[in-house]
Amino acid sequence: MILQVALDTPLRRVFDYRPPVRFSGQEIGESLRLGIRVRVPFGRRQLIGVLVGIAAQSAVPLLKLKPALDILDTRPILDPHTFDLLRWAAEYYHHPIGEVFAAALPAGLRAGQSAYTRTESWGLSEAGRRELAAPSDRRAPQQRALLAWLEGRGRATTETLGENFKPALWRALAKRGWILPTDVLPDVAAMESRPSDVALTEHQAGCVAAILASPASFAVHLVYGVTGSGKTEVYLRVIAAAIAGGGQALVLVPEIALTPQLVDRFRRRFSSGVVAVHSGLTGAERRDAWRAAHTGHARIVIGTRSAVFTSMPRLALIVVDEEHDASYKQQEGFRYSARDLAVIRARGAGVPILLGSATPSLETLENAATARYSMHRLPQRPGAARAPRIALVDLRKHAADQGLSTPAMAAIGQHLHDGGQVIVFLNRRGYAPSLFCSACGWVAPCAHCDARMTLHRRAQQLRCHHCGAHGAVPAVCGSCGQPLHPVGQGTERVEETLERLFPKAPLARLDRDTASARGAVETVLGRVHSGEARILIGTQMLTKGHHFPDVSLVVILDADQGLFASDFRATERLAQTITQVAGRAGREARAGEVLIQTEFPEHPLLNRLISEGYESFALSALEERREAGWPPFSRLALLRAEAKDSAALDAFLRAGAAAGQNLSDGALKILGPAPALIARRADHFRAHLRIETVVRSTLQRFLARWLPKIEALPHPTGLRWSIDVDPLEVD
Ligand code: ADP
Ligand code: ZN
Ligand code: ZN
Repeated sequence: MILQVALDTPLRRVFDYRPPVRFSGQEIGESLRLGIRVRVPFGRRQLIGVLVGIAAQSAVPLLKLKPALDILDTRPILDPHTFDLLRWAAEYYHHPIGEVFAAALPAGLRAGQSAYTRTESWGLSEAGRRELAAPSDRRAPQQRALLAWLEGRGRATTETLGENFKPALWRALAKRGWILPTDVLPDVAAMESRPSDVALTEHQAGCVAAILASPASFAVHLVYGVTGSGKTEVYLRVIAAAIAGGGQALVLVPEIALTPQLVDRFRRRFSSGVVAVHSGLTGAERRDAWRAAHTGHARIVIGTRSAVFTSMPRLALIVVDEEHDASYKQQEGFRYSARDLAVIRARGAGVPILLGSATPSLETLENAATARYSMHRLPQRPGAARAPRIALVDLRKHAADQGLSTPAMAAIGQHLHDGGQVIVFLNRRGYAPSLFCSACGWVAPCAHCDARMTLHRRAQQLRCHHCGAHGAVPAVCGSCGQPLHPVGQGTERVEETLERLFPKAPLARLDRDTASARGAVETVLGRVHSGEARILIGTQMLTKGHHFPDVSLVVILDADQGLFASDFRATERLAQTITQVAGRAGREARAGEVLIQTEFPEHPLLNRLISEGYESFALSALEERREAGWPPFSRLALLRAEAKDSAALDAFLRAGAAAGQNLSDGALKILGPAPALIARRADHFRAHLRIETVVRSTLQRFLARWLPKIEALPHPTGLRWSIDVDPLEVD
């Protein structure tokens, strides 16, 4: 009997081992099930991998096969559908299976921790609560900090406590009886959903009824609801019904840190058993959440991209919120689409899946048009809220002060005066995108990329947004010695301008620079929710599902960035961004207004979007894609490579293209090598080959034959390559 083990290595294969010597044949027969972990020798190291196959023989001679060292589990550590999903994903994305399994498991489990043990956990005792309210010992701020921390989270495992506090400290508190061990997991039976405080609108009720009417088997439902139409309320109702019998629901969201309100809403609605999985968790928290899901105690798992791999043996429903969002695509290493995998998982598990969006991706709309997905519309906002009024501002006709046109300034002044809040959107952070010499035309470049440095004035730095390089701001031109000028606007500069123009209106800024500190996002969002901040300036981060009741005006400073971009998805992204940002206006009683500044007010895309809405735009964009043969009317894969030596990079890709000739059994094109949009980044030249077919299976069979040949090519030193199936961007 041969064990086939998936090990976390970059090799595209499984590794064969004999069963561990100390196990008797009978023991092995009982415990060897696919999906258990085994510890094996690997070179001089020991690795833990997942058993993915049992074979009668191996290509490796039996005498050379090493025995596995240990079997770590008696039961699989993944439910069977997730196990199948991972194998499917490794094959479909042509990624090493060991890395795929590693991506799915929390670090603790990869290191061999138990998938089941109940870890002791701690909560505040009554005495601890009293101590917190009226400290008996004022000289012990650390003790109080721990008590306050524990009160805030309800309970914490020993390990999480240990990650945050010194053991001596919490042991002292335990001795005084202020913290007590509790059961780590909520009781399954305790799960109950509280009734909603809103009555469904007609459209919502119709949508919920239609989804629940279809049998509890695989079906994809597109919930196409305009921003603020109450999609979340629909999810909550469908989830409550789907898990009433003890099942579990998986909810994927683009970014949890940006939408703390969403998790709160779920927690308020369901008494317990709601678990959030995201990058902010510590290792122990992540493993606890995973265990809760794997044992069925967590009834609702809300998570970002990688949560699609959470083991949930009683999965009854999947929801993918904002299904169009680019963050569902993993852009490095194991490149997968969590949205697409969620659909595959639902199919495998035989459960329904909801894809929700105000701006569905063109792929999803095409699937709805061909009736593979059923579409449910929420065309209106509930109650008094109405869709905002949208207008273009012609930047060629109006004077502008640092990118802010006179009509936009007037509108901001008016809305502030009327008591509304204002959002100003610009998808560019920093102070200015370039530092320019008007005497000779020199622009501060990144020394490591084909790109300009962005000026960050507050930090007194030039930063490269492509490679992270940073340096001091030069006093004078690097070429002629004349003074330099910041050209163009980033959010930091817009903030400065608005401060000057509206000195009485408190500002909040949300972009990757202001959001980097822990808790910073919550602080910014809190200031907007409380009404303290009157103007919110931000990037892409603003588009993610926030619900600000008093925002009445949205100004989009620069709509033109996406209009003439080369990527085939650029216009789709632009239309989604504009629609999503605009959707932050007028979400409750206040009428909303949206101003979009552009130098191309006649542009057909902008006009169609504004006069006819996103769906009309999407239909015409789909027509263009069909004519040009872009996805979803073709299938793409990108072989990306980068190297320090551009000639070696080119030679490698040419050899790769040559190796693919006559390899396909169907119509297929190999295009390139073509340089990447940023052709040099972090001192590496970057280029790619693009593979195009119409039929998915043709592409799959081709890649299966081609990639081994790529692996076998001579690799110049330092060259790295990767394959991206269904790439989001092709430049
Ligand atoms: P979406 O997810 O479509 O952006 P939400 O579900 O966040 O929309 O709903 C937007 C707002 O409308 C929320 O404040 C929500 O509480 C409210 N809402 C949703 N459904 C209803 C309803 N049927 N009646 C009244 N208010 C509702
Ligand atoms: Zn100069
Ligand atoms: Zn750089």
